[in-house]
Amino acid sequence: MSRSSIADNLASVRDRIHRAAIAASRDPSEIRLIAVSKTKPPLAIREAYEAGQRLFGENYAQELAQKADELVDLHDIEWHFIGHLQTNKAKYVARAAHVVHTVDSAALARELGKRVAKDDHRREGFRMPVLVEVNVGAEPQKHGTSPAELGDILDAVDKEPALQLRGLMTMPPHDLEAARRVFEALVSLRRLHGGRARLPELSMGMSDDLEVAIACGATLVRVGSAIFGSR
Ligand SMILES: *Cc1c(COP(=O)(O)O)cnc(C)c1O
Repeated sequence: MSRSSIADNLASVRDRIHRAAIAASRDPSEIRLIAVSKTKPPLAIREAYEAGQRLFGENYAQELAQKADELVDLHDIEWHFIGHLQTNKAKYVARAAHVVHTVDSAALARELGKRVAKDDHRREGFRMPVLVEVNVGAEPQKHGTSPAELGDILDAVDKEPALQLRGLMTMPPHDLEAARRVFEALVSLRRLHGGRARLPELSMGMSDDLEVAIACGATLVRVGSAIFGSR
């Protein structure tokens, strides 16, 4: 994809976010765009960066670590880890990510907390912002904690001195009406577990459903194909 089309795509996604916020009577600045760059080359990330994008999402721990190394000169880039995280890969993410969206077990919270605390790249007292991924519909093929276990995992994150609990994340089903129900259920779960004060961020909404997610209260939208083209 050419340079100008990434910049054009970004402009139109930003426009969609802006309109969706206004339509929902929300302040557009409450919603941050994460450009999901998984499988895309560092050059594509540079192009988006040059067009003003700063938050990027990656799904694979080693790919994130590699790209973060290759793009160290982009000093104010912010890497969001949004893929399924296995405990044995937590060390890569502890080193390279700025935010982790996909903590989904107490064991992973402990491992990530330990790895962040040990990472000698991190300044003293650094606390990694994390979100807990919820499999709202308890769909068997999806990652994320079940709503029933959410409370325990939130408590496990709270117990880790090197982690900072920031919010909830979910992967919606494809169908828009089903996605809306999932987003609304995530909002209800937040209300049940401490509300905005404890869980200010809601990571939900992608290329096809970001308007619905914003109407429901998303603060972080994760957009890949609408920016970088199909994978
Ligand atoms: C790939 C991916 C996205 C982006 O999906 P698009 O439909 O390409 O916008 C968002 N979130 C997660 C967790 C993903 O894996």
